Amino acid sequence: MSYQYIRDNLEDVMANIERAAIKSGRKKEDITLVAVTKTLSHDVVQAAVDLGLMVLGENKVQEVMDKYPVISGDPQWHLIGHLQTNKVKYIIDKVALIHSVDSLRLAEEISKRAVKADVIMPILVQINVAEEETKFGINVNDVEALVQAISDLPGIQIKGLMTIAPNTEDEEALRKYFKEMKDIFETLKKTMYNGSDMTYLSMGMTNDYEMAIEEGSNLVRIGTGLFGARHYNK
Ligand SMILES: *Cc1c(COP(=O)(O)O)cnc(C)c1O
Repeated sequence: MSYQYIRDNLEDVMANIERAAIKSGRKKEDITLVAVTKTLSHDVVQAAVDLGLMVLGENKVQEVMDKYPVISGDPQWHLIGHLQTNKVKYIIDKVALIHSVDSLRLAEEISKRAVKADVIMPILVQINVAEEETKFGINVNDVEALVQAISDLPGIQIKGLMTIAPNTEDEEALRKYFKEMKDIFETLKKTMYNGSDMTYLSMGMTNDYEMAIEEGSNLVRIGTGLFGARHYNK
């Protein structure tokens, strides 16, 4: 994979982000791009950072551990995949945002480790908006109670919500889920739970980020659209 290839893709992605942002009455600067670097080699991740991609998304703790010490340029690391409680301790001092908090048990462990490490860990609550059995995330009806419970914990700060939309070509269904997320986000924003700060609505991946932005997303997580198809055989 060449530097030029990533640069060309990045140009396209940024143009698409800008178009979708304008459609929803915003500017491209209002949208944060998380470059999803899971499975990519250190060389490719370094090329991405050198191109100015300063926010990297990884879905496995092990990959954060492997890449964090060797990638230069001081990018921000976001943990976007399912997080097991017994692995929180490895990343508590490395990641800038955890997108995938979906239980009080996990939040309590993050709180405990953050207090110990003397940091405040920003997190997003992951919602399984389509209530798919195969997906992590909490159901829509449980969001408010979880946000309230987490907002009382020390060392952890809710910064917003995240979802992984269903993998479907049904644009109408997708828009409905994105709108539902935006509604929940705005409702929670008004409630202002203790110390919580609804800043980020993380939704949109390669196949659906333009639509997600049009519906109000301000954090998109893009892998394939920047780096091409992933190879898991290593
Ligand atoms: C892999 C992954 C992405 C990126 O997916 P693409 O379709 O390659 O853009 C986004 N979010 C999460 C949680 C992921 O695991």
